[in-house]
Amino acid sequence: MPTTLPATLQKPTRDKLAKIGIINRFDLVLHLPLRYEDETQIVRIDDLQAGIGSQVEGEIIHAEIAFRPRRSLICQLKDDSGILFLRFLNFYPSQQKQLAVGKRIRALGAVRVGYFGMEMVHPKCRTAGENTPLKQALTPVYPTTAGLPQATLVKHIHAALNELDLPDTLPPEILSKLQLPSFADSVKLLHNPPPSIDEEALLERAHPAWLRIKFDELLAQQLSMRVHYRKRQQRTAPQLPAEGNLTAAFQKVLPFALTDAQQKVLREISHDLTRPHPMQRLLQGDVGSGKTVVAALAALQAIENGYQAALMAPTEILAEQHFLKLREWLEPLGISPVWLSGSLKKKDKLAAIERIASGDTLLAIGTHALFQSQVEFKKLGLVIVDEQHKFGVQQRLALRGKGKEPHQLMMSATPIPRTLAMSYYADLDVSVIDKLPPGRTPVVTKLINDSRRDEVIERVRNACAQGKQAYWVCPLIDESETLQLQTALETYATLTEIFPDLKVGLVHGKLNNTDKANVMAAFKANELQLLVATTVIEVGVDVPNASLMVIDHAERMGLSQLHQLRGRVGRGAEQSLCILLFQTPLSELARARLKVIFENTDGFEIARQDMQLRGPGELLGARQSGVPMLRFADITQDELMLNTARTIADEILQDYPDAARAHLQRWMANKPDYLHA
Ligand code: ADP
Ligand code: MG
Repeated sequence: MPTTLPATLQKPTRDKLAKIGIINRFDLVLHLPLRYEDETQIVRIDDLQAGIGSQVEGEIIHAEIAFRPRRSLICQLKDDSGILFLRFLNFYPSQQKQLAVGKRIRALGAVRVGYFGMEMVHPKCRTAGENTPLKQALTPVYPTTAGLPQATLVKHIHAALNELDLPDTLPPEILSKLQLPSFADSVKLLHNPPPSIDEEALLERAHPAWLRIKFDELLAQQLSMRVHYRKRQQRTAPQLPAEGNLTAAFQKVLPFALTDAQQKVLREISHDLTRPHPMQRLLQGDVGSGKTVVAALAALQAIENGYQAALMAPTEILAEQHFLKLREWLEPLGISPVWLSGSLKKKDKLAAIERIASGDTLLAIGTHALFQSQVEFKKLGLVIVDEQHKFGVQQRLALRGKGKEPHQLMMSATPIPRTLAMSYYADLDVSVIDKLPPGRTPVVTKLINDSRRDEVIERVRNACAQGKQAYWVCPLIDESETLQLQTALETYATLTEIFPDLKVGLVHGKLNNTDKANVMAAFKANELQLLVATTVIEVGVDVPNASLMVIDHAERMGLSQLHQLRGRVGRGAEQSLCILLFQTPLSELARARLKVIFENTDGFEIARQDMQLRGPGELLGARQSGVPMLRFADITQDELMLNTARTIADEILQDYPDAARAHLQRWMANKPDYLHA
């Protein structure tokens, strides 16, 4: 059945509908109300409560145009019980006429305590007669865009509801098991709530009709992810059984034993690698949980089988640090990794590419330069992506296309709350390192007002005098890289002046790579005592002797950023301290964030609270660009339903493939096609 919009629809309307995501008539059906207005009753002015949307009726007893604080129309509406002020900042002559003294008006809006008393700002007003009937049911209010009135939307939505066939995509067995209403009944009810409806449930989106829509949406998401997962399970990858010679030798020379948590994830990864299908596993572990050594062991399993492994990191600093570490670890085993980054001189780059292409090296480490088109691996068995959340989905997918199908291990230190992982990472297998290696002393966090900056400076001086090293993280300036750089340079200049006896270094994103590497090496070698840095040090940097960090203007940073930064200290046995310098006044969000980071050290808990503060979209970052976001369900609230959707998705794929197809068609037809990526 054609669901295209009616041919009679004019282009301007069509364009506006497209702007709010309505391309066909089915989108109209799924364009559900944002909220509902209650025009079924009239509240006495005396009974009005601030903050609550209400409808009142009365006579205009006064109307004037006032100029303080700015030109506005102010009316007084009177009923038997009292007087309410109506205020309009923008108004037309027609409204002035409608609201003239003596007119009887019904006004609907949120009530607040204003300058003169109770008031409504920009209420919806209609002229009322003595006996104008009240609405029988709640009035839906739709999300819309400028120039597209509610009435136009309502007209098209109702036409679509009447004309379209709305068969259920869920098999009856499943529906009755879940005790959910039919799809058709649900959308009809949400667009036209009957007078008898449980209003609270409707408004709270807890009504069975809402539950059905949310479930359908979650199910569609799970289905698409699981289809993707299954498709991958049908492709082939090299089998890389754990031979044990290299991995065992490596574990012998490691200066520490793997923790139970590391061993557990390693078993999961190792098992995946032995299978003839491409692994796509996400390894999560808080900052400092020891993911690098797990990555090294996974790489060795590929190498033992004569396959190449590639390790990619999002920043040059981190990639280089991995390179140095792995070279130190693996050269004694006769493996010499090759380094490849965009900043290499042409000659060295070509040499590196040649070693990769000829198979002369079995381990390549670098930035995304590793996956540019000139780079051809001879026999790539495993790709490891560190800090994968810093890369977009697109990049991740492009990577997969390279060479024959290699296994993929993605690592992330931004812990993803369980529901988020279940929802947006349902196409991946997930391993979690849930315990830090022993011997760590938790970092002490202090929040200090910028007015006490001098004390902080004294602390840095004392710490460095005792042979400790410190980071000073420069304020984040989102708007401009030039300003960011300028701030870093200024901070550096100021601190060098304040600490004439200390050796101070500076690292920032605009530094060329050799200089960057030199500064990091000097800091690591304890030749610098204080490192002034921008957030380039956010990921991965590992200098155990650094035990003090000052984060300047911490209120500007996001939670995961603060957590990552703080993770740079507390890496040695020494008690570490992280000082968050903040400037007042604090926004409410900034205050909430600082409280979370102050009270928590567990990355998972921080991530969970971050999701509550900002919503899942922000937390997903780059990933969201490739994955349809949820419109109706809310994974912070609908966790139980998400669990059910996941189970049912597998059941439907197994037992009712046609239903799965129909459901995906209905919900995903217009969405960016993640499945075929
Ligand atoms: P992340 O998970 O943040 O990437 P790293 O791999 O950088 O963490 O590890 C952090 C530090 O912990 C490194 O110095 C590493 O050598 C050390 N480490 C890793 N595993 C263990 C372990 N099992 N016991 C002791 N130290 C460990
Ligand atoms: Mg790391």
